[in-house]
Amino acid sequence: MDYHNPHENEICNCGVGKRLVKCRYDGCFQYPISCSACFIKCHRHLPFHWVLEWDTTKRIWIQRNCSQLSDSFEIQLGHVYDTEPKPCTGTSSSIPFIVTHTTGIHVSRLRFCGCLNAPDRFDQLMDAKLFPATVSEISSPFTFAVLKDFHMQNFQSKCGAFDYLLALRHLTDNVFTAKVPVSSLLTVIFPALIHIRIPIRLFSEYPVYGMPYS
Ligand SMILES: [Zn+2]
Ligand SMILES: [Zn+2]
Ligand SMILES: [Zn+2]
Repeated sequence: MDYHNPHENEICNCGVGKRLVKCRYDGCFQYPISCSACFIKCHRHLPFHWVLEWDTTKRIWIQRNCSQLSDSFEIQLGHVYDTEPKPCTGTSSSIPFIVTHTTGIHVSRLRFCGCLNAPDRFDQLMDAKLFPATVSEISSPFTFAVLKDFHMQNFQSKCGAFDYLLALRHLTDNVFTAKVPVSSLLTVIFPALIHIRIPIRLFSEYPVYGMPYS
């Protein structure tokens, strides 16, 4: 990992901002240091990658969520086929939410679709492959990817829910780990997955080898 930014005085390829932002080392492969606007544009479909932003005063990289790069950044549900991201006009505002993904626990902003005939909020989350903690607790969803990952870790290596959650907290922040926000529901959801045995194919687009669809 580079501890300095040799490009801090250079203009980004877009010709507008300075090259002060990059994807964390476990994110995009060979993503160049860019400006904030280019980073957000490239991460429209990768909103749970960690951002490293160069602090020109302290001269260190500071980890952020995508939502901290721009006040206008929000995850819009129900409009995935729009060529350009724009907020749904049927909803007045976005809501803060905490999403748990394989990269850690992210605080972000989520805007539901409020268009005529839009599905209810629970279905909108499920369509976006976000699993609500409960029917009423829609602001703390889990990605299908993290549920599948835990399922496999538990199945193959007997990793328990508590240890898995601990690892996710360290992935989020390996220094100030105690400050990572964790919903109390996290300790309920992962063990529940084991006991109710949600079929693994629920979290997969494709059939698992040896487990044909029925
Ligand atoms: Zn740029
Ligand atoms: Zn990335
Ligand atoms: Zn809409």
